Amino acid sequence: MKDRFRKVPALVCALALFLVFSPLAGAAQKVPIGFDDYHGYTGAVKYIKDIAAAYPNITELQEIGKSGLGRPIYVLIITNTKTGTTIDRFVEIRHPRNAEVKEAFHLKPYDGKPGQWIDGGLHGNEYTGVEVCLYIIDKLVSGYGETPEITNLIDNKVIYICPVTNPDGVFNSVEREISQRGNGDLGAGKDSPRDLNGDGHITQFRYKDQKGAYVIDDKDPRLMIRLGQNEQTTKPRYSIVTEGRSAADAMRAGGSEPGPSSIDVNRNFPEGWWTEEGMPGGTGAYPTSAPEARALVEFAVNHRNILMVQNFHTSGGFTYRPPGVGPDTTMAAKDVALYDLVLGKKYLEIIGEKVPEAWQKPEQMADFKAKLRGASRNKYAPERGYEMPRGWIMGYNEERDQRYGYGMVIDWWYQQYGAYAVTTELWNPGADIPGFLKIDPQAPDARNEQERALLKYNDEKYGGKLFVIWKPFKHATLGEGEIGGWIPKYRSNALPGEPLKYVCENHWQFELFRAGLLPQIAITDVKANILYTTDSAKEAIAVVQGDRVTIKKGASKGKYKIVEVKATIENKGNLATQVARGAQLRGNREDVVWLIGNRDKTKFLQGGPWQRLGVLDGQMRIPGLEAGPRGGPQRGGTGGGPTGPAGPPTIIPQLPPGMPGMPIGQRGMGARGQERPQQTGPKREVTWLVAVEGDAPLTVVATSQKGGTVAKEIAVR
Ligand SMILES: [Zn+2]
Repeated sequence: MKDRFRKVPALVCALALFLVFSPLAGAAQKVPIGFDDYHGYTGAVKYIKDIAAAYPNITELQEIGKSGLGRPIYVLIITNTKTGTTIDRFVEIRHPRNAEVKEAFHLKPYDGKPGQWIDGGLHGNEYTGVEVCLYIIDKLVSGYGETPEITNLIDNKVIYICPVTNPDGVFNSVEREISQRGNGDLGAGKDSPRDLNGDGHITQFRYKDQKGAYVIDDKDPRLMIRLGQNEQTTKPRYSIVTEGRSAADAMRAGGSEPGPSSIDVNRNFPEGWWTEEGMPGGTGAYPTSAPEARALVEFAVNHRNILMVQNFHTSGGFTYRPPGVGPDTTMAAKDVALYDLVLGKKYLEIIGEKVPEAWQKPEQMADFKAKLRGASRNKYAPERGYEMPRGWIMGYNEERDQRYGYGMVIDWWYQQYGAYAVTTELWNPGADIPGFLKIDPQAPDARNEQERALLKYNDEKYGGKLFVIWKPFKHATLGEGEIGGWIPKYRSNALPGEPLKYVCENHWQFELFRAGLLPQIAITDVKANILYTTDSAKEAIAVVQGDRVTIKKGASKGKYKIVEVKATIENKGNLATQVARGAQLRGNREDVVWLIGNRDKTKFLQGGPWQRLGVLDGQMRIPGLEAGPRGGPQRGGTGGGPTGPAGPPTIIPQLPPGMPGMPIGQRGMGARGQERPQQTGPKREVTWLVAVEGDAPLTVVATSQKGGTVAKEIAVR
């Protein structure tokens, strides 16, 4: 043996070099993907189908609905499909009044794990997010088994990725090159944009017009400069319309606004869809009238395990957190602190912007608040302790005390569903193109400077191919003019190639960070003691072996064992198992722990099979919250983190007097479950007292909607 080993080192070295320098190092990438152009709806669907076929053990593709024009909307589920469980594996879910009703929605076992939702393309012409979704899919599936962090994530959590939430809008914007924000078909009418000059692109038509709002730029004649409202000029004025559309049509639709038959899907969600006067404020006939919004909401309400949500848009290079329809006072202070000082801080670090001082020194928040009093035009800033930075804002306009819009998806996710949802507006050329001209956004000519720099970048990196040089054309109704401009799909999304990859990598890092915050329920300890049998009070001792606890038989041959089961349930994740007010939202519930045995052979001597746990806090201390008394039960987990007294009290059931002689069939406090123990923090200790006939096993099942469901079996012997 030794001789054989001596020959090995040279081979090992050769093998090591081979691994380092060969493509085998990335062998887990079974479906190669590039970002040198946009995938659109067709390319994204092909990619996720290929991924689902190549990685059957860690992905599943689900069609969750169809677009207005009948295109399937897909969610790629990324998780180890062999792990996870749900409470309905253990407890039959029955309608309380009618056993015949089969309304229970059976989840896949992996849907019981803590979840994160990521989507793109809700606004069809904002498809940078589609690409970021595909990039994240690639990183996750090819990182599985290679990177411990990603393997752990896929084994214990579930990531739902819907790369194209608005298939019709993305299809028209990318495949047909007709920019379309809403759903349905903006380009179906007789005035729809057409490729008039047959060059393969629908660009723009510019023509001289005394009332025109544009002039040709002196520095780069390709660029059209928009004049100020009353700005005078000696240069010829131009009007611009989308190629193949009439001026009237372009005016009505405003370029990218939804046409008459098209719904802005991100104004069609149920939260804040109505105006303050009770009139419809959002788009569509009613909330979720758009099939795309309906599909998303239906999926979400049937999957209560999602705590983190990203809804990618374009552009600007900043993130919206809720609320958009009301001020910060409509949110719990704990969630404001988590959004800003945890998520916002990380986001600003990733995009390279300055983190507000108050977020860096949360222990001095009282001083920051005092400093802002009387000094801020924004009445909400002194209450919070800081102004919102450019890169991390809410939709609500605090200075004007005015809502942003109606029926937006992240408001629905946060206020009605109970998830930490954000909308990231991807793409900021100045930040996302390395070495790109740094332009002060406040400078008077900032927008045009950026356009000039982008045209130059197009010349240098893309051989000028993303822009069509203006060429004379005679329009049937508008007369002489020129056709040219940016090829529309490159106009306002991250430029393909290096800039797009840079955007993708940054936002993959942000989503990975957020996934790392998800809660995770665990049963950290289980003890079962046979106190006595009905014939003898002889005790037996529990033996713990890994996940199993065995209770040695007592000497008695009694029919029933009186067993005391103690379990410790702990949230090992960073965040609490619900948003601050999450447990009170319709459709949500507190965390619960069950003791499940054979129905005919297990009798609960005190309480019932399940116990309410409240909302388990996470391990992370949320910064920026004032320390205060935490006393009393905190239904809905409004506490500020695990700052409570160490070692939560244990609830020990009192043995009913004279119990050894009581009839076993009699239930202690009924089947409704015990009163919830007054415990806070991430840990709960619970106790049951049961009579078990024979060797029937018991199972402890801790179940949290957003923190996961876990089970441990106890053999009572
Ligand atoms: Zn948008």
